Amino acid sequence: MWTLVVNCGSSSLKFALLNSATGETPLSGLAERLGSDLASVRVDRENERVTVPLPRGSYPEAFGVLLAELDALGLRRDVRAVGHRVVHGGDRFNTPVLITPEVVEVIRACIPLAPLHNPANLAGIEAARAAFPDLPQVAVFDTAFHQSMPPVAYRYAVPTDWYTHYGVRRYGFHGISHEYVAGEAARRLGRDPSGLNLVTAHLGNGCSVAAVQGGRSIDTSMGLTPLEGLVMGTRSGDVDPGLPDYLAREAGLSLPGITAALYRESGLLGLSGLTNDMRELEEAARQGNENARLAVDIFVYRLAKAIAGMATVLGTLDALVFTGGIGENSATVRAATLARLGLLGFRLDEAANAQAVRGQGGVITSGGVPALVVNTNEELMIARETAWVVAGGA
Ligand code: AMP
Repeated sequence: MWTLVVNCGSSSLKFALLNSATGETPLSGLAERLGSDLASVRVDRENERVTVPLPRGSYPEAFGVLLAELDALGLRRDVRAVGHRVVHGGDRFNTPVLITPEVVEVIRACIPLAPLHNPANLAGIEAARAAFPDLPQVAVFDTAFHQSMPPVAYRYAVPTDWYTHYGVRRYGFHGISHEYVAGEAARRLGRDPSGLNLVTAHLGNGCSVAAVQGGRSIDTSMGLTPLEGLVMGTRSGDVDPGLPDYLAREAGLSLPGITAALYRESGLLGLSGLTNDMRELEEAARQGNENARLAVDIFVYRLAKAIAGMATVLGTLDALVFTGGIGENSATVRAATLARLGLLGFRLDEAANAQAVRGQGGVITSGGVPALVVNTNEELMIARETAWVVAGGA
């Protein structure tokens, strides 16, 4: 079944046309700088890449280019559904759902929990509906996979009233990726997912780890917002909850200013003062830059602690899975992380680790608990989930 997968950010629209059974992707692309007069869309066809300017810089205009591309491929009439990545579904959705007016209202009600993402997802849904009025539209939530977490994992030790009235709890994100790589890892290990205890580490610009038991998430490092947990590209991860008050008093910073800095000026960027890009940091560290070295060291140190915590939650560990831009490509981060996790019984295979870059996944340990690299494919996961909903769901 041909499915159009749509992932809208605040100024971007990522799309892909996929066969949900085979993963075949004859068309994909990325519209960027939407909302400005510099907007353009990059279209990846099977063997070529073109960039088309978008003078109006709008979502409908980007969808217009997409329609023209589908027509050029002669596939417009074969598309059966549109699958949308939606970041926050609160505690209402533990599976993907057909988008109805009620579902739109719940996504809208979740805007305070994801103020940057959910409005963009809604704009994408609206534009896709206008472009494809006859197709079913499906929402696949980044939070849904973690809805299986038990209260012991998702509650914060704060006044209960904050939970019951304001939904203050841990939700977790990157669920689409964690679920996909957990399934792939089971397949590669030749094991039934229902009997596996996995820690999955999604390490991209955003980073999170999850404890996956029998194919279900039982804990994850991100919480109410995607700020909690690991050190990320520009996000701080865990800090003392007393920090905002302290900085407001001592530095005269506003609460929104502090939050913005925790999202955009912290993490690898804040520590290094150089960049949020792990590749560049590794290079700078090799050349002797001490701040870059410290940034990478803290990233790895906190990651190893989080993985050990997730292993504790699982009780026993069958495998560790690395994914995301850093997890899939940085042999250095993987080796340094496993070196800190001797307690869990990993034995790094240096040659296999060095080879597992640029799309070459695989097991990177020899003996002991396996660690593997699995390339994530959120688009394929969304296409599969969309096909499942269109076929009638559970
Ligand atoms: P993502 O958000 O999944 O695209 O991941 C982005 C992150 O992956 C950035 O920090 C990149 O620097 C990092 N990354 C991509 N390729 C490499 C590489 N070869 N070595 C180290 N980090 C990489």
